[in-house]
Amino acid sequence: EKRLLLELKGKENITLDGKKINLYANIGGVGDVADVLANDAGGIGLFRSEFLYLESEDYPTEEEQFKAYRTVAENMAGKKVIIRTLDIGADKKVDYFHLDKEENPAMGYRAIRICLDSKEIFKTQLRALYRASYYGTISIMFPMIISVGEVKRIKEIIREVKTELDEAGVPYKDVELGIMIETPAAVMISNELAKEVDFFSIGTNDLTQYTLAIDRQNPKLDRIYDAHHPALLKMLQMVIENGHKEGCWVGICGELGADITMTEIFLKMGLDELSVSPSMILQVRRKIRECRIEG
Ligand code: PEP
Ligand code: MG
Repeated sequence: EKRLLLELKGKENITLDGKKINLYANIGGVGDVADVLANDAGGIGLFRSEFLYLESEDYPTEEEQFKAYRTVAENMAGKKVIIRTLDIGADKKVDYFHLDKEENPAMGYRAIRICLDSKEIFKTQLRALYRASYYGTISIMFPMIISVGEVKRIKEIIREVKTELDEAGVPYKDVELGIMIETPAAVMISNELAKEVDFFSIGTNDLTQYTLAIDRQNPKLDRIYDAHHPALLKMLQMVIENGHKEGCWVGICGELGADITMTEIFLKMGLDELSVSPSMILQVRRKIRECRIEG
C-alpha cells in the first residue's frame, strides 16, 4: 500500500479522460513545508496564517511575518502558495487581542470582521505578504466573507499597502486574490463576488456548520454533521458555476476535499483544485487517476 502510493510521486493529477486537477496541501506553518514537498503537492492551497499569531506572545511583527511567508514561498520554489489572512475568533483564541467572551463565538467577532475593524493589524499582515510575494508565487485569500462590500474594502486597503510599498521602493509581484466561500451568504452571492476576485476556495468545514446549523465542535452532533448533505452539494455546484462564469477558478480547502468517496463527484461538477492535508495528497492523486469525468 505504502509502496503503491510512493510510486505516484512525480505523476500527474489527471483523470482517465485527461482532465488535470491542481492538488495542493493545507499547512499551519513553515514547519509543515517539508511534509508538503515529501508528499509531492503541487503547491499550498491553504496556509492558515493564524498559527503565527497563536504561537506568539504578542502581535507578530511585520518582519516576523515577512520571514515566515518568504521562507514558505522560497521553499516552494515558485509553486503556488495561497496564504489565508488571519482567521482568529471562534475556536481560535489569542489572549493579546483581548476579545470579549461571546455567547456564539462561531457566529461572532472573528476573521475578516476583526481585520476590517483593526486596520493596522490587517495592513501589517498585508505588507508582510506583499513583500514576501517577490520571493515566490504567493496568492492571498480572505476568510469568512459575507458581502461584496467587504471585498471592495479589502481591495481598497490593498491599494493603500501597494502605494506605501511603491513609495518606499519595496518590490512585490502581482498577487492573485481569492476568498473563502464558507458562509451560505457567500454562496448565494457568488455570482457577484466572482466579479471581484481571481479564485474561490470553498471552506466546507464552516460551510457545513453554517448551512446545517450544526456546531462543528460539538461531538454530540458528529453523527448528523453531514458534509454530503444535498444542500451542500447544491451549493458546491452553484459556486463552481458562478465562479467559472466570471473566470474564477474554484477549489475546496475544507476537510471534504480529502474525501475520496466524493472526488469523482467534485470533478464532474467542474472543480479545478483540491487542497488537502499533506498526508492525503498521494491518496487523492490515486483517486483522481481512477476517475472518468465525461459520461
Ligand atoms: C473551512 O472552514 O473549511 C476551512 C478550511 O477553514 P478552517 O477549518 O480553518 O475554519
Ligand atoms: Mg473556516
